[in-house]
Amino acid sequence: MPRSKINDIMDRFREIVDKPYEKLKQWKEANKKKIVGCSPMHFPEEMIHAAGMLPVVLQETDETITTGFSYLYPFFCGITRNLIDIGVKGQLSFLDGLIYADICVQNRTAASILRQNLPAIHVEFAQLPSSFTRKGVMENTVKELDRIKASLEKLAGRKIDDKSLKQSIAVYNKNRSLLRRLHDLHKANLRLLPYRDIQVIVQSSMLMPKEEHTELLEKLLAEMEGIKPPSAKGNKLFLSGHLCQSPKADILDLIEGVGGIVVDDDLYTGYRYYAVDAEMNGSPVEALAKRHLEKSLPVPTRTGLPMRWEKYLVERVKACRAQGAVVLLVKFCEPHLFYYPFIKDALAEAGIPHIMVETEHEVVSLEGVRTRLQAFIEMLK
Ligand code: SF4
Repeated sequence: MPRSKINDIMDRFREIVDKPYEKLKQWKEANKKKIVGCSPMHFPEEMIHAAGMLPVVLQETDETITTGFSYLYPFFCGITRNLIDIGVKGQLSFLDGLIYADICVQNRTAASILRQNLPAIHVEFAQLPSSFTRKGVMENTVKELDRIKASLEKLAGRKIDDKSLKQSIAVYNKNRSLLRRLHDLHKANLRLLPYRDIQVIVQSSMLMPKEEHTELLEKLLAEMEGIKPPSAKGNKLFLSGHLCQSPKADILDLIEGVGGIVVDDDLYTGYRYYAVDAEMNGSPVEALAKRHLEKSLPVPTRTGLPMRWEKYLVERVKACRAQGAVVLLVKFCEPHLFYYPFIKDALAEAGIPHIMVETEHEVVSLEGVRTRLQAFIEMLK
């Protein structure tokens, strides 16, 4: 396929990722539909979609934090500080609803701050279980999803029946299956797209109406599947970390610029977002609860999973035959910081070299990161 067609589709994805809130505001004015923002990572967007509203996953922007500092602790992670800041500055006021889920203390606090300061927005807090071994965890998840469903029905002014929820699950499963196809295509042709573009495709899926994204992604895949890119030269790397947000494009470019090739990842704006589908049989609320519980992938914001995160990472790195791992750790991300010593030990025990790069909402010294990455890649040769 001609590269120009690929570029045109990528431009459509980039448009919304570059200025998510500005574009969503315009979308709302043009479509006269309600928009509900979901904090990363666990709330099933399908429920909002089934209520006829547009679900969007909140994204970190590059904006410098200013006014927000009067409302938050400076030791909150970047995405939390950024969202509170742009929220109190009025940039999220176009949203009709906001759903936060219990993933960490900072997320929980962000929900309270935004609820208090954005009274016109309906802010919900989804208390989905974080410990999966507790008795009655399935029943509690279904009960909480039912509670939120009722709240969304009130906001939307219409019922979410099983039929529409199943249809929404099918829409989301379809989009996830295409993202998995992209994932496989990338693994087979590592120079097809730079990793920053793959991130753009996943992020745009979190921001655009799913049907529109699916249509564009189908066209993009059809075009790309005919291309034979030059064979990939470089050191294969597994990218882990960044629990809630996409890594900055500059860092992804740096990794590739010093001779690394990202073969696989466990990012939220990556494999974790589209790895598993919800079942189409039986009760749709139970199917969403099951996806959250039984089918979820290891991540440090949950406990009692069949496999610990560090073991899972070792298996994933081995499976994609990466020569090393890059762990991107968001500054002040407590769940990740808690697990990092275990990750470090597990990777060392498995003989997998890794480098940890701490990232920050504010600009980090890219030169310092470049030197460390260069040294790491040299070591792998
Ligand atoms: S990046 Fe870490 S600290 Fe921040 S909201 Fe996500 S899990 Fe919580």
